[in-house]
Order: sequence, then structure tokens, then C-alpha cells
Amino acid sequence: MFAKSFDAAVIGGSYAGLSAAMQLARGRRHVAVIDAGKPRNRFATASHGFFGQDGAEPAHMIAAAREKLTAYPNVYFIADEAVDASGQEGAFAVTLASGQTLRASRLVLATGITDILPDLPGLAERWGVSVLHCPYCHGYEFGGAPLGVLATTPHCAEKAMMITEWGPTTLFLNGQPMPDAGVLAKLARRRVTVEPISITGLDGQGQALQAVVLSDGRRLATTAIYLTPRTVMASPLAERLGCAFEDGFFGPIIVTDGKKATSVAGVFAAGDAARGMHNATWASADGVTAGAAVHHSLIFEGLDAA
Ligand SMILES: Cc1cc2nc3c(=O)[nH]c(=O)nc-3n(C[C@H](O)[C@H](O)[C@H](O)COP(=O)(O)OP(=O)(O)OC[C@H]3O[C@@H](n4cnc5c(N)ncnc54)[C@H](O)[C@@H]3O)c2cc1C
Repeated sequence: MFAKSFDAAVIGGSYAGLSAAMQLARGRRHVAVIDAGKPRNRFATASHGFFGQDGAEPAHMIAAAREKLTAYPNVYFIADEAVDASGQEGAFAVTLASGQTLRASRLVLATGITDILPDLPGLAERWGVSVLHCPYCHGYEFGGAPLGVLATTPHCAEKAMMITEWGPTTLFLNGQPMPDAGVLAKLARRRVTVEPISITGLDGQGQALQAVVLSDGRRLATTAIYLTPRTVMASPLAERLGCAFEDGFFGPIIVTDGKKATSVAGVFAAGDAARGMHNATWASADGVTAGAAVHHSLIFEGLDAA
């Protein structure tokens, strides 16, 4: 049980949240990091592209960042889920699933997003290993192998044109409309094969993918398949607090300004939940921006009125 009041509560303790907390910690402010421990990339065994940590296990990267923060006695870690948040700048209350409540002058929402995957046999269990969304994160490793793109939106034709950079590519329409003649011509120029027959499932040993199985019985050799999932907020807290949303590339995102301040005074948001393009580097950079901005707002609050 704790009844502590914090300068800031960071909700979400992954790339964005821990980066925000680090700035506040170094600013000598009291910060609570509340984390439910489910980062978006927890399905992947390796994370790629992050400065100095290419190929590291996601859980190790997050653990290393946490460990650095434990050196700061003004940072308080809470392994719990924040189920409600209310109040106003200077006086927020955050309720945890355990029933406890903490108070904070500022909030940083770094709660991430959840991927809504298409409902296809054999797909969900391969997510993050051989069913993927981002070739920069997971593409180099499959270089030269037969690759697929599962059409989920009209933009998937462009994705297929891109994926040929990594290997010979089939665009599986799986019920999505046939692209128009202009797009088909571009797909042909990029050597994308278009497969209109619907998919019955994905097949392979364990989490590896060997074949996409079609409803006419064919099995097309495929080593990795890319898709664009729809995304939703991983937490309803931004909505509860009244933050404004906008449409991102993949789903709703929290509206923020250049300092990662939301439309609600005293509430900042960072990472996937508050940006259209997603990766760990951008999430971390957003966290740095939000953490520094929260610190500045604490320093300068009330000065004008004095
Ligand atoms: C399969 C897959 C593979 C990926 N691979 C890569 C890669 O190789 N390289 C790369 O750069 N990016 C990769 N990404 C993207 C990367 O995972 C995200 O961009 C990054 O995790 C976003 O960081 P974040 O801190 O915003 O959110 P997250 O990492 O999703 O963390 C959010 C945290 O907030 C917690 N949380 C949520 N709600 C609450 C609540 N109410 N109370 C308490 N805690 C809460 C969650 O449990 C979680 O720990 C991948 C994504 C996926 C889906």
C-alpha cells in the first residue's frame, strides 16, 4: 500500500514510458512508472533496428532500461494495470487494478496499441516470427525467400511492391478486391504475383511458415507473410481522461503537439499510442520529448501568475 504523491505518473513502462521516466528521473522529480508488462513486440524473439541493440530480445532491452532507472531512488516501479485516471493538471488520481490509488501532478500515457489480427487458421500463433507487419523490423532475415503480403486494406498493393526488395513476393487478395489496371501494371513492374484465390490457412513446423494453403487446395511455398493489422488503444485511459483522438495510418491515435502534450492539460502521451508510424526508436524518442516537456511544465507552472 502506498499513499504517495508523485510529480508524474508514467503509465506504460516500455520503450516510450521508460524513456520519459529517465528524463524525469534525471530532472530529480518523483516519478511512478506503472506497467502491466505487455509490450507490443513481446511476440518477437528479436528486435531490430534500435540504436546499438539490433537483434536484441525485446524483453532484455526493456529489462536493461529498467535496470538503469533503478539507479534513481526518485523512480518508483509499480507492476500493475492502471484501470482509471481522473482529475486535472496538478491533481490527477490513478486507480490500479490492485485497488490502490496514487496521485500525480502530471500524467504520461505510454500505454501502446494492440494489433487486431485477421482471423485465419495458423496466423496468430506465428505473429512476430513468420507473420509480420514491418520488413525493416523483420525482413533482412528472410532475404531471397518466397514472401507473401496478405491484403487487409487497399494500401496492401503498395506494401507488396515494397516487399519485393526483400524477396519474390505474392500478394494474397484473400477476398479483397482485385486492384485496378493501373495498380496491377505497377505490381507487374515490381514482379509481384497476385493471387486472387482465398486462403484457408497457414502451415509450417512450429512458428515457422512453409506454405500458404489456398481454398482450391494449392500450397504456395511462403517463408514469411506481411500484413497491415488494424490497431486499437491498448488502454482506455486516454479516452477516460477526455483526450482528443485522430485517425492514424492503422487506427486511432492520441492527438499530441510537438511536446507530446495531449488536448487535456497536464496529460502527455508518447509512443505507438500517440503517433502514426511505429517502432521502438520513435517510441523512445517520443518518451524523451514527453519526459522533458513534463519536467519543463513542472518547472514553469505558476511562474507567470507570480
Ligand atoms: C510483432 C512485432 C514486432 C516488432 N518488432 C520491432 C522491431 O524489431 N523493431 C522495432 O523498432 N519495433 C518493432 N515493433 C514495434 C514496437 O513493438 C513498438 O513500436 C513499440 O513497442 C512501442 O513502444 P511503446 O512504449 O509505445 O508501447 P509498448 O511497447 O506496446 O508498451 C506499452 C506498455 O504499456 C503497458 N500498459 C498498457 N496499458 C496499461 C495500463 N492501463 N496500465 C499499466 N500499463 C499499461 C503495456 O503492458 C506495455 O508494457 C514490433 C511490433 C510488433 C507488433
